Amino acid sequence: MTEHTTRMLIVGSGPAGLTAAIYGARAGLQPIVVQGLQPGGQLTITTDVENYPGFRDVIQGPWLVQEMEAQAVHVGTRMLWDTIVEIDLTGPRFTAIGDSGDTYVGDTLVIATGAQAKWLGVPGEHELGGKGVSACATCDGFFYRGKKVVVIGGGNTAVEEALYLTNHSHDVTLIHRRDSLRAEKILQDRLFAHTGITVLWNKGIDHFVAHPEDGHLKGVKLIDTITGEHSLYETDGAFVAIGHAPATELFKGKLELDANGYIVVEPGTPKTAIPGVFACGDVMDHTYRQAVTAAGTGCMAALDAERYLAEREYLAEKAAFAEG
Ligand SMILES: Cc1cc2nc3c(=O)[nH]c(=O)nc-3n(C[C@H](O)[C@H](O)[C@H](O)COP(=O)(O)OP(=O)(O)OC[C@H]3O[C@@H](n4cnc5c(N)ncnc54)[C@H](O)[C@@H]3O)c2cc1C
Repeated sequence: MTEHTTRMLIVGSGPAGLTAAIYGARAGLQPIVVQGLQPGGQLTITTDVENYPGFRDVIQGPWLVQEMEAQAVHVGTRMLWDTIVEIDLTGPRFTAIGDSGDTYVGDTLVIATGAQAKWLGVPGEHELGGKGVSACATCDGFFYRGKKVVVIGGGNTAVEEALYLTNHSHDVTLIHRRDSLRAEKILQDRLFAHTGITVLWNKGIDHFVAHPEDGHLKGVKLIDTITGEHSLYETDGAFVAIGHAPATELFKGKLELDANGYIVVEPGTPKTAIPGVFACGDVMDHTYRQAVTAAGTGCMAALDAERYLAEREYLAEKAAFAEG
């Protein structure tokens, strides 16, 4: 069992963690990134990315994070393949235990454990991911310009995704398994007032159906939750919008989490209530959830970590000087 020490311990290797690593390494903090079960994060399970600045052509999600990782390593980051299973935030240094049994000790801690979209878990959903089935309208809505799409869900996420998709599609259908929505009233009002959105009530998804010719989504097989009747609803794209689950199990009882489990930070900053502990990316942001915003807050976390260390060292030197 090895003990790894660093001035900046980063948990998570998606765009937030890797950007924090790039900034941390360039500030001389010799960061360690513990990668977790999904090295590279959520972008590794998508294909086309068309909205990350700097690329005129469509790029691939896995390629983008590989480039981020290569850059982080190039400037001095150590990438370690482990998953944190226990964490001690009592400080002044922060200790994490990996699944491997190794211990990681950081003068600062950057939490970048991200979030995962919740899926329905029905047949065809996984197989048709990137071929008509998505969990992110902001990311993939553009690919359905002028096409017919459905959104599955009944909460805020589903209504927001449906409204967003009207920017691209004139034919948006919201499918919900109950006869009323859970979304906030103001969102419901906007949804019902929109002429481009139809709601199908009391319909669950039995499975996703592929086109036999091209293997792309053909439609959704619905099951009426009252009569049990099955029917095929043809569509070009299906957006599963039943929420996201932030990866914050480790931090329960140690950091403040909001009602949905996201880490609470000081507004406009990545600072948690514990000095030296920062959170960035999707684990603290349930609103924007984009690679570029995750990278942005990763940058902020590293800059704040560097300032925190500099200030702590200055105060320690001053105290030592005063003591003579
Ligand atoms: C299908 C899909 C398509 C998308 N398309 C786009 C797009 O086109 N454009 C765009 O901007 N955004 C897109 N997104 C959103 C984007 O991927 C996320 O906003 C972004 O990846 C969030 O980055 P993050 O670093 O905060 O977290 P994540 O990418 O979720 O990474 C989290 C990291 O934390 C690690 N981790 C978790 N728990 C632990 C632990 N206990 N120990 C160690 N490590 C741990 C994981 O292994 C992972 O490396 C898409 C998302 C999905 C799911």
